[in-house]
Amino acid sequence: MVLASPVRGAGRSVLRYPFVVSASATPLPHGPTTTVLGGGALGLTVALRLAQRGERVTLVEKEPAAGGLASGFQPAPDLPGGGPFLDRFYHHLFRSDTAIIALIAELGLSSNVRWASPVNSVLWGGKYWRPYTVPGLLAFSPLPFVDRVRMGAVLAFLKAWPKVGYFERHTAAAWLRRMMGTRAFGVLWEPLLRAKFGTRADDISLAWFWSRIYCRSFSLGFLEPGFQDLYDAMVGEIRRLGGEVRLGTHVEGARPIAGDRWSVSLRDAGGTPQTVVSDSVVSTLPVRVTARLIPDLPDAWRRRHDWGEAFGAHCLVLALDKPLLPENTYWLNVNDSGYPFLVVVEHTNYVPPSRYGGRHIVYLGNYHPMDHPLFGKSLEEVRSEYVPAIKRIVPSFDESSIRDAWVFGAPYAQPIVTREFPSHIPPLKGPLPGLWIGSMFQVYPQDRGQNYSVALANRLVLEMVSERRGSG
Ligand SMILES: Cc1cc2nc3c(=O)[nH]c(=O)nc-3n(C[C@H](O)[C@H](O)[C@H](O)COP(=O)(O)OP(=O)(O)OC[C@H]3O[C@@H](n4cnc5c(N)ncnc54)[C@H](O)[C@@H]3O)c2cc1C
Repeated sequence: MVLASPVRGAGRSVLRYPFVVSASATPLPHGPTTTVLGGGALGLTVALRLAQRGERVTLVEKEPAAGGLASGFQPAPDLPGGGPFLDRFYHHLFRSDTAIIALIAELGLSSNVRWASPVNSVLWGGKYWRPYTVPGLLAFSPLPFVDRVRMGAVLAFLKAWPKVGYFERHTAAAWLRRMMGTRAFGVLWEPLLRAKFGTRADDISLAWFWSRIYCRSFSLGFLEPGFQDLYDAMVGEIRRLGGEVRLGTHVEGARPIAGDRWSVSLRDAGGTPQTVVSDSVVSTLPVRVTARLIPDLPDAWRRRHDWGEAFGAHCLVLALDKPLLPENTYWLNVNDSGYPFLVVVEHTNYVPPSRYGGRHIVYLGNYHPMDHPLFGKSLEEVRSEYVPAIKRIVPSFDESSIRDAWVFGAPYAQPIVTREFPSHIPPLKGPLPGLWIGSMFQVYPQDRGQNYSVALANRLVLEMVSERRGSG
């Protein structure tokens, strides 16, 4: 894939980050050097902040495009230039996502953020319901009225209680079942936990569930036409400030070498091995990948932090000639059993289809263990499995309305956040001099999210800088 979308905002320097000391395009010649592993939201933010400080930074990303899980594809390739980029996996922001909202503003892209409250529904008993608002919950007749009120009270408590401590002691399934009642939990929340976490559903911490209720707004934000524009703008800005961004380059390993420096082994898209030497390394890869790529990590660190599981994400994306879901539904949780996907997201019931050449874009999403057979299936196999299921949800669906289809899979997309999870989160400062480790496995108690990767990156750079001051 060749990225050709316009890089809006690159080259501007409306810099608000507190540690910016230099917005010039020339890095300080004798400043510290850093290699950043991974070019998702987290790695790009670390590299940007260091470059803004006038430091010399090299970012390495294995994919040909930056953006990691939030990177895009071109859903309307017949448009000039291959058309705009849209996320491979559905994304949106919440009003509480202040770190990424500030970053978007900093890069001059705020005017492209659309805020709206699109329709969120659930499929239950073959019907569409909207129990995610107060009036919708009160009207949710599959549950007795008393259960609806009880569920509303439990959700209100989760929304109001500001501290995670109490919730860390419980699993979501056991606590919600007890508080809401078995029936209410079984209709609305158990299917979601099962669909998302499979056999691990009963182990998921209540802290994970709480953070999703506590931090999220009803109003959603989306960077039009897709978040790829943000990540391209960050690449442009890092390069403008003199930093290096190597896309399509695999990190194969990293080792400390003499003089408290680091040597990072790379392989570029053509298979040519390369080495980068720097004073520091910041790994933003999944913690278990970091553990594999840095053989010198001490055993004590490995025993504690090379731990836990993550599921992969899978999406079939359809570009249709006409809308799919009724009632302008944007998000449909599929709580009825027997469907091969857990959610249907009709993106163009939020952002107008005119943004994508009149195509109606629908995501059919799933999470599974990373060795699940779905990840090995071809587009045709996935499509033929999913189309009959779509027809069950929308009987009028006509397969000939599919103009294009894509299938995307990504490993390490959803950490399995059990009650033991927090005690295994590594500190940002690694156990070897000059090593820093920041990944979406460290944003707890938040669930993963671009905002939390950006916020963690901001914090990591602040800690790096203050550590250098302390030791300098
Ligand atoms: C289905 C789905 C829906 C989501 N919905 C939302 C949402 O609505 N809102 C939201 O804000 N967030 C959402 N997220 C989460 C969001 O995408 C992530 O939290 C965020 O993108 C994580 O960024 P990151 O940089 O921490 O990690 P990643 O994006 O995983 O970045 C890690 C990078 O490291 C690279 N890498 C890995 N190994 C190597 C190697 N050996 N060499 C070089 N590079 C390597 C990867 O290619 C990747 O680019 C969603 C995620 C998924 C999967």
